[in-house]
Amino acid sequence: MSDPWSDALVQLEAVRAYLQIDEDIFKQLTHPTVYATELAVAGTRYQAYRSQHNNARGPYKGGIRFHPGVTEAEVKALSMWMTWKCAVVGIPFGGAKGGVVVDPHTFSGETLQQLSRAYVSFIVDQIGEQRDIPAPDVNTNGQIMAWMLDQYEKEVGYQSPGTFTGKPIALGGSLGREEATGMGGFYVLERLVEVLGLTRNQTTIAVQGLGNVGYWFAKLANEAGYKIVALADSAGGIVDTKGLSVEGVMEHKRKTGSVKGYGSAKAVESQAVLAVEADIVVPAALEQVIREDNADSIRAQAVIEMANGPVTPAADAILNQKEILSVPDILANAGGVTVSYFEWVQNRYGYYWQREEVFEKLQARMDEAFEAVWQTYKEKKQPKGEVWNMRTAAYVLAVERVIQAMQLRGSA
Ligand code: NAD
Repeated sequence: MSDPWSDALVQLEAVRAYLQIDEDIFKQLTHPTVYATELAVAGTRYQAYRSQHNNARGPYKGGIRFHPGVTEAEVKALSMWMTWKCAVVGIPFGGAKGGVVVDPHTFSGETLQQLSRAYVSFIVDQIGEQRDIPAPDVNTNGQIMAWMLDQYEKEVGYQSPGTFTGKPIALGGSLGREEATGMGGFYVLERLVEVLGLTRNQTTIAVQGLGNVGYWFAKLANEAGYKIVALADSAGGIVDTKGLSVEGVMEHKRKTGSVKGYGSAKAVESQAVLAVEADIVVPAALEQVIREDNADSIRAQAVIEMANGPVTPAADAILNQKEILSVPDILANAGGVTVSYFEWVQNRYGYYWQREEVFEKLQARMDEAFEAVWQTYKEKKQPKGEVWNMRTAAYVLAVERVIQAMQLRGSA
């Protein structure tokens, strides 16, 4: 399988069929700055990275991941995807990402805190509320952001809550951040259903992943009247054509640790939920789950990519051929970074909004972004032999916005 950085480069390369990109600008877009070091914590050394991809439209922005599978290629790809994501939803940030090669599940709270603080000491000169703003990602959370903020403020000597987002509310986090990504995806679903000419009650959905993103997406869709016919977590999947109660499944998962064995639902493999008979399938767990070897089994009319990078470029071409519409990750899951932006705005203002205000502003951003991508998708002509889909449309829009900012800044 290709690595995520190669996928990210292929996706950017595809845009060149539609946009003139100056060689110097293309070179800059394909060469993020990567900081790397080994963090010494409790007698062990852990490889750590921060990749800063582009800051033409605003400070770098991107999460920090603690995972054994972290690689330089992955961090670079994720930093590039952040640049496009922020540009698609029109928020004034660039793209970055950080990671540490570690499995933190066996760590005590104290070791986890030491690792978090060590990461900040490594990157302290490169971050800041007007420079680069980290956030949680896989296996990092609000508590880790709180330790990181504390370490940062100790080292720089002043308060700077806007340097990290995804913080606990008590330290300046935003109301609505927890459900923001799922909520943003739900707004995308509502617009998608409209353009497909479907109705809520007749639309069936399968969701892979029942973590923060998958749970909120499925719950909101379920409450709005959509029929959830399949759900999966890492242990397995369940299918019920009559429809599943997301809250009921979640309660079962809380008790037993998995969705498996819920009511009379049929048990299947986690991967199989992507191929069930449903109008819309929603990968909301991992990257590269729809690939060349299984893309042909997808039977849905549309895919909403709530996970980052769930569809490989080879699978993209297959879905396109099958006329399956895929709403790209850089649009579908941008609700999270949008509310992170709201958190940063509130921190810099020192004035905090009600939950309803956050969602109202989120919906306006997501609707506007969907509309812009949809219009671009409908209007542009497809050069021979090229894949023209909503991803390419979103990329064209995003890359155009980033290049415009780079050109306005000049090249001196
Ligand atoms: P999470 O850790 O809360 O949940 C992940 C879920 O995926 C869990 O339910 C887990 O059981 C499930 N899972 C893991 N392996 C699986 C497998 N093989 N088959 C089926 N399910 C599996 O993570 P999350 O925050 O919900 O993130 C999910 C995805 O969304 C990731 O790709 C992440 O990068 C992306 N994302 C998250 C946010 C956010 O705000 N949390 C924002 C943008 C994108």
